[in-house]
Amino acid sequence: MTRKETRINDSGRTPSDHFGAVNTPVYRASTILFPDTATLESGAQPYAYGRRATPTTRALEDALCELEGGARTMLTPSGLSACTLAILCACSAGDHILLTDSVYGPTRSFCDRVAKRYGIEASYFPPAATPEEVAAQFKPNTKAVFLESPGSLTFEVQDVPAIAALARAKGIAVLLDNTWATPLYFNALEHGVDYSIQSATKYIGGHADATAGSVTVNDAHLHRLEETHGGLGLCLGADDAFMIARGLRTLAVRMARQQQSAHRIATWLTTCSEVAKVLYPALDSDPGYAIWKRDFTGAPGLFSIVFQKDITHDKVAAFVDGLKLFGIGYSWGGFESLALPAHFHRSFPHPGREGEIVRLHIGLEDPHDLMADLERGLMRLY
Ligand SMILES: *Cc1c(COP(=O)(O)O)cnc(C)c1O
Repeated sequence: MTRKETRINDSGRTPSDHFGAVNTPVYRASTILFPDTATLESGAQPYAYGRRATPTTRALEDALCELEGGARTMLTPSGLSACTLAILCACSAGDHILLTDSVYGPTRSFCDRVAKRYGIEASYFPPAATPEEVAAQFKPNTKAVFLESPGSLTFEVQDVPAIAALARAKGIAVLLDNTWATPLYFNALEHGVDYSIQSATKYIGGHADATAGSVTVNDAHLHRLEETHGGLGLCLGADDAFMIARGLRTLAVRMARQQQSAHRIATWLTTCSEVAKVLYPALDSDPGYAIWKRDFTGAPGLFSIVFQKDITHDKVAAFVDGLKLFGIGYSWGGFESLALPAHFHRSFPHPGREGEIVRLHIGLEDPHDLMADLERGLMRLY
């Protein structure tokens, strides 16, 4: 088996099927014609309707599936719809889902507001809980545990294989939002996860120009995924699938460079007196470092800083607003650096509760320029 870096280049591409074109072209299709009634009725034609698949979307599914090492990957129009799809696959009316308190905010809102209306009950565990403490919150009707490691904005790392083993022993499905690490830096399915979820909008797309999501499952959950995805009528447009596949080819080099710059900048920020904490599992001072080191093969360029508690919101706004190389905006994983003042709702105390939090996404700019920009920003705190 070749390494992932090589598979990223080769997977989901068959130039000989497309007149030698290196990339699978954009097939814009809703209606796909059948040559005759017999073919229509046999169900043997590989493509039957654009909503279900085209060569463009199938190519991206195949590429991601090969990287994730799953039975099948299915695409959705956004990362959030990938999260909600996986929850709807694993849970039915009367079931309980246990989620990390650090889960992506809109996933939490979906559980608390929408899934609730359909009789799915959600509760949260503190992200720093031990696997045994997590398992102690399993109820007789728990059907899914939803992990995100590291978590959104505060980056707490969970012991995914240990939690997955305890869940599996009870027949509970394990869902993981693996957007931070991507399949390149964390092998979700090998670590016991049943549903590996990606917001491909982030690193996989990598250019801030398309939204997409994916859900990859093992054999045990294949039928549920196909049935639920098909039933909801989810599909990704051909142009967006093409953009995401194009981004995928450079994922490894982008992430390597962003990791290198982010590590350097995060390390420097730990020495700045205005910064109380840097939340980044790739730093050996981080509480999640040991598990990150054990389970992950890298870290992307996304982390948060917590300012000293006497630094006010207005000062932090001045820090962010004056940055020249960091845009202010949602999402991340593109080539460009971003800064986001973070506000969020949690049920349990979190590492950022004592000071203002800013999430930084380190892009492909020269790290010296980024550090100089941040250093000028720190001066605006006075
Ligand atoms: C952005 C994000 C999502 C949602 O992805 P969209 O493509 O924006 O819908 C889900 N999970 C995590 C961890 C994210 O950062």
